Amino acid sequence: METPPHSALATVLQSLDNAARAGRRPSPRLVAVAKRQPVTAVAELVAAWRRERPGERPAIGENYVQEARDKAAALAALVPPEPGVEWHLVGHLQTNKAALAADLFDWVQSVDSARLARALDAARDPARPPLSVLLQVNIDAEPGKHGCAPGDVPALAAAVAALPRLALRGLMAIPAPFPEEERRRDAFRRMRALFEALRKEHPGADTLSMGMSDDAALAIAEGATMVRIGTALFGARPPSGDPG
Ligand SMILES: *Cc1c(COP(=O)(O)O)cnc(C)c1O
Repeated sequence: METPPHSALATVLQSLDNAARAGRRPSPRLVAVAKRQPVTAVAELVAAWRRERPGERPAIGENYVQEARDKAAALAALVPPEPGVEWHLVGHLQTNKAALAADLFDWVQSVDSARLARALDAARDPARPPLSVLLQVNIDAEPGKHGCAPGDVPALAAAVAALPRLALRGLMAIPAPFPEEERRRDAFRRMRALFEALRKEHPGADTLSMGMSDDAALAIAEGATMVRIGTALFGARPPSGDPG
């Protein structure tokens, strides 16, 4: 039997709190990753979030810029506007879509080049708060995977920090899905070390985004401050069509 999102949200929030308590860490922020889920499911989740955490802005993650644009427009007709939704781009971003992304999103978690950072900065409306940015790190050096190399973080962080329309908030990673838990734990530990080093140079960096439905508890134990959960909230994703 499928669990509808409204009851799944309470369960997920509780399990994040439990993992944080077990590891003596603060509860992480939740980003609900809604890629390929229908806007009706997102609307239900937003309504549930407002019941569970009144006054907090629900954080919704999307992988594709056009899908997010369409969903944001459709969502506006389904749920009351306040408190607004905080939109996070968690998928890869091409420079030619940076202007649209800088307009739509509050956070871009997938910045992996100075060129992309400059394009986002140039496009961000100066009347709005700076765009919150995470540097995506290819922590297991997987061929063909997006993200900068761990050794490139200091230079990329300095480049982002110099851009006035961006706020450098921290790091994001999608470690390799090794079957052995110890290898996955090791990747989270290396991310934590990179994050601690980053904070010495950039005290405003407050976010380490790692952990998904299958490994959130492990990521929290190793210091995640933000987790990105899709399947555990929405159920299985519909098969992929045109990513847009
Ligand atoms: C899809 C996705 C998630 C969520 O994955 P689940 O396993 O469904 O929780 C998190 N982060 C990124 C970058 C994703 O693409």
